[in-house]
Amino acid sequence: MSPAWFQELWRLFSLVLFFLLIGLLTGKICFYLLIASLVYIAWHLYNLYRLHRWFTSRKFQPPDAPGIWGEVFYQFYRLQQRNRKRKRKLAAILKRFQKSTSAMPDATVVLSKNYQIEWLNKASRQLLGLQSPQDKGKPITNFIRSPSFAEYLANNDNQSFVNLVSPSNSEIILRICVIPYARNDQHLLIARDITPLHRLEQMRSDFIGNVSHELRTPLTVINGFLETLQDNPPKQWQRPLFLMAQQTIRMRNLVEDLLLLSRLESEASQPSHHPVAVAELLQSIYEEAHLLNGEHHISLEVDENLKLNGQQEELRSAFSNLVFNAVRYTPAGGSIKIYWYQDKDGKHFKVSDTGEGIAKEHIPHLTERFYRVDVARSRSRGGTGLGLAIVKQVLNRHNGRLRIISEIGKGSTFWCDFKE
Ligand code: ADP
Repeated sequence: MSPAWFQELWRLFSLVLFFLLIGLLTGKICFYLLIASLVYIAWHLYNLYRLHRWFTSRKFQPPDAPGIWGEVFYQFYRLQQRNRKRKRKLAAILKRFQKSTSAMPDATVVLSKNYQIEWLNKASRQLLGLQSPQDKGKPITNFIRSPSFAEYLANNDNQSFVNLVSPSNSEIILRICVIPYARNDQHLLIARDITPLHRLEQMRSDFIGNVSHELRTPLTVINGFLETLQDNPPKQWQRPLFLMAQQTIRMRNLVEDLLLLSRLESEASQPSHHPVAVAELLQSIYEEAHLLNGEHHISLEVDENLKLNGQQEELRSAFSNLVFNAVRYTPAGGSIKIYWYQDKDGKHFKVSDTGEGIAKEHIPHLTERFYRVDVARSRSRGGTGLGLAIVKQVLNRHNGRLRIISEIGKGSTFWCDFKE
């Protein structure tokens, strides 16, 4: 027990004893004991009143009091001091955080659970056109109105980002990322100006497109002459001419694929969509696959009435790349199955083969340009190394996703999943 409590008990004992003695002397014990209790209660009430006044007066120093009340005042005083210190520290941290985020060149916006603006830094004004404090409390989707941003928020995919044109300046390209924090109760939106990077990417894509375009005509001319020369060549020229023709065909395929890829990359993010009769499209690809190699068992199982909103020629190149790959990488006698169906998850194109299969470590890289598991084998079978990169681009433009399962020696299955 603390000395203050001893003091308090001693005070109570002395008071009771004093009034008890008076009571004994006057013969009115009960009356004087009642007076003692009233005096004691009054003293406590008085100190309670002082405590309350101190709390409400915002005075720094606590009132003076003897005994247990002195101890109570002192403990409250210490608690108050500790709180003030903590408050000052937190305010300093907050100030430092706000100063550093304000100085950041990236737009930083704190959003509530429902994506309402709670706080924003200076760069948000320039990059996103937001104003503080007028825009606080308003939903961020009122300012970033792009459908791809709404889709990005709906998908809640906090790993990725979305590239958009700045709502305040159409010449600025932004990379926007929304990260949840505080147990998903708040979100941090970060928008970075990637205009120089975007320009560089555009230049690279334009350059590839232009070079491919320029190469097209000379290649057609060379190919034409080679075909004429191959009609009746001297014996010693037969093999060189055959090899030259083979290589020009390879170059032509490469140029065509590069051109298609650069067109897919540079055109507006979504093509104009029309209902495409996928069953008919797959029937023609199926027939072409037969012509390509008659030594496979190819089957086609399609939902005749199931259509897909999209761009027919782009879908044709994606699906035919997957089917021709299956033919290319499946030894003679193997079987290839093509499906087009719908289930609760959406619409699916699927092609499975009993070919050579792909090792696990290669699968995540297959859609990179010129990525080939075996370069020599791909070339010998007429591959350009761009087929799956084209498939990925086409699927991106159709809200689709490529899924691959494969086992070495057993075969591969490729799915194109469409949410529609
Ligand atoms: P390529 O023109 O070389 O076929 P792709 O981009 O179409 O280029 O494919 C990349 C690589 O993926 C191929 O080189 C091949 O190694 C592998 N691949 C694609 N499809 C299959 C398949 N059905 N079976 C086995 N390997 C495949």
